[in-house]
Amino acid sequence: MDTTVASVFCDSYDEKKVDAAVRRTIDLLGGIGSFVRPGMTVLLKPNLLAGTDPKKAVTTHPTIIGAVARILIAHGCSVLIGDSPGAGVRYTPASLRRAYRRSGITPLGNIPGVSLNYDVSHTTCASPDGTVVKRFLIISPAVSADAIITISKPKTHLLTTYTGAVKNLFGLIPGHEKSLFHTRFPEAEVFSEMLIDLHGAVRPVLHLMDAVTGMEGNGPMSGKPRDIGLFLGSTDPHALDYVVSSVIGIPPESIPTISAAKRRGLLSPDPLILGDDPASLHLAPFRLPDTKRPAGLRMKMMRRILSRLQHSGRSITPYPAVIPAACIGCGACERICPVDAAVLRNRVAEIDLSLCIRCYCCHESCEAAAIGIRDSLLSRLLFGSRQ
Ligand code: SF4
Ligand code: SF4
Repeated sequence: MDTTVASVFCDSYDEKKVDAAVRRTIDLLGGIGSFVRPGMTVLLKPNLLAGTDPKKAVTTHPTIIGAVARILIAHGCSVLIGDSPGAGVRYTPASLRRAYRRSGITPLGNIPGVSLNYDVSHTTCASPDGTVVKRFLIISPAVSADAIITISKPKTHLLTTYTGAVKNLFGLIPGHEKSLFHTRFPEAEVFSEMLIDLHGAVRPVLHLMDAVTGMEGNGPMSGKPRDIGLFLGSTDPHALDYVVSSVIGIPPESIPTISAAKRRGLLSPDPLILGDDPASLHLAPFRLPDTKRPAGLRMKMMRRILSRLQHSGRSITPYPAVIPAACIGCGACERICPVDAAVLRNRVAEIDLSLCIRCYCCHESCEAAAIGIRDSLLSRLLFGSRQ
């Protein structure tokens, strides 16, 4: 695989700047004709985790999606924008309409040649080389399109530490089907192996990344936006994630998708970077999620030891806690929880920690920021209080 990563400075979502950065990035990789032919239908797969204001940096910015779409249209392609939002919402035309509207994507459907996906069917797709999953249910437009181009967003992530090009693919799994994978693979390491198998099932022709602004802290939903100032692209999602995680100060080896790619021999130790040097940005490291504090390695070892001594190592793993005063009773956490640990009682969410597998989907799904992350007493005794 070609491990070249194109990187171009872009310090705002001003349309002219974005157009220039997107065009230069794609040109550095050989031009759009290297990936698609005129007449093709191309699925543009942004990160549409939830319908939220683009300023919150949860979703791929609509200006970026529009710039990529216009390049494809000018090349003679048709563009379909599609994703299955992950935040505990049902995968229905109505929920898609809401997500498009709230994330500023709706007007893109007015560009001639561009449509927004409302097909909520799914199709089985094989991943012949998969090591933990060999067949996936995938949203149908990703299977019927002639090519897929992803546009991810770099963010911290409570479960996988970082989400970028590889983790973005999880949005191709329809609706609540995602919860099944959290149940089957509650540990980030095996979950990440599954994501690599998923890549093998869909094989996008190009991975682009909106790193004009990313997210730090308790991402992917409730962290804080952080300016980065880059737009990037590569045909290799692992090389792209490796470069971006290094730029934002998250050691690549601490990211389970990157470690999994390395174990499988899919990670080039030295990706070639074309364009602007991202290291020259000298960014201060992104703040990690509360679930991945610096004592992570020590905690991980302790968890392994405890898991042998106890029924499980959950006793020192940070846990989700409902803030009742902030809960609006929307039920998103109840719908997304893969093990029915989150339930609504009298229109306020409650979490049964004896069932909870610490996948943090409820935190990710809560638009009211009513689910916090807490350390257990044992964890506080062993590692001290979180700052
Ligand atoms: S905690 Fe309350 S507001 Fe948050 S997702 Fe659950 S029900 Fe909705
Ligand atoms: S309650 Fe536990 S198992 Fe359920 S979604 Fe939240 S973190 Fe995951």
